[in-house]
Formats: sequence, C-alpha cells, structure tokens
Amino acid sequence: MTSEVRSPIIGVLSVRDVRAVFGEKLAAMTTFKAMVLAPDGGMPFVGEVDLARKKSGPGEHIALQCPTCERASLTLCVSEAALKCRACARRLTVRQREHALPSWSAQGGEEHDRILRLLAGCGKTTRSARRRAVKLIDELLAADQDRLAAVSELAHAALLASAVFEYELATMPTETDLAFELAVERAEMGPKYWKYWL
Ligand SMILES: [Zn+2]
Repeated sequence: MTSEVRSPIIGVLSVRDVRAVFGEKLAAMTTFKAMVLAPDGGMPFVGEVDLARKKSGPGEHIALQCPTCERASLTLCVSEAALKCRACARRLTVRQREHALPSWSAQGGEEHDRILRLLAGCGKTTRSARRRAVKLIDELLAADQDRLAAVSELAHAALLASAVFEYELATMPTETDLAFELAVERAEMGPKYWKYWL
C-alpha cells in the first residue's frame, strides 16, 4: 500500500513528481515515503515527507512541508541526508562557511561572500550571475589549488539552492529535460562543472 516516490531529479524533490506517483489520492494524504539521491554521491534522503497546503487565490494547493522550518514549498532539496526548502538550504551555506570552512573563510572570506551572493544570496539565480560566480571560482582555483576542496564544498551547497530555482522555472517539457540533464551533469562533473560554464 505504500508507494515510494523516487525523484527523477538528483537532489530535488518536487510536488509535481509526487503528484505523478499518487495522482488524485494525494488530496487525501498527509505523508508519503520518498527517496531522493544527493548530488556528488552524498548521502541520499530516505524517509517520510509531510504534505502541506499552500494558499493559492481563493483555494489552496498541495505542497511539501520543509522539515526544518515547516513552511509549505513546491520543491525541497537534499542536504546532508535531509530535505530542506530553498530558504533553509541557503542558511546551510552560511553555516558551512562559518563552521566547516574556517581556514578558507579566513583566507578568502570576501570572495566566498561574493560567490554566495551571486549564486544563492538573493532571489532567482540568473545565468549571468552564475557565469560571474564561475569566473570568480576559477580565478580562486587558479590562484590557489589548496582551496579546491573548500571551494567545491561551497559550490555544491550554493548549487543545491540554485538547482531548485532552475527546476521550478522548467515548466516546458523541453526545459524539464534540460534541468534534469543539468542536475545529472553537475552530479557527475563535480568541481569540473564550473570550468565547463566558462
Ligand atoms: Zn525550510
């Protein structure tokens, strides 16, 4: 009786994919099981996800509930084996900067902040903002190979948030295909992805 949702997009669970599995039954459901693979071969999310109702004009539609802030969201992304909404994923990148990467922060905190702002700091990520971030990261990599690991972690965290934007924007079938290919490409290429966009 328990169907499990396996997200076709690496790192992202969308309410559209959930609806595709359960159809009209979804209206009467409050929770479901899901498995969402993580980018870069990280820990996947496996577990229960709560459904929420999001107000839309006079009515309401079904959404996913973020386990961290409990807000309704159309998409959730995987981070450290947990699902998070866009806002919570962004907060994670700040926490990672402060707690997980102290040495890099001390050496290159300014660049780090700029990259975060370009990619995930405000509203929707544009292609030109992403290109500027890529250029900045490439300069950092060229200047100091020792920072590679730290920059990769940062890039990964920021892209989790940016991948969700792209998936939400991908309403046309062809764009969905593109978003899917992009997610797979990121997962497979890791840090090399950045160079690819230069
Ligand atoms: Zn949240």
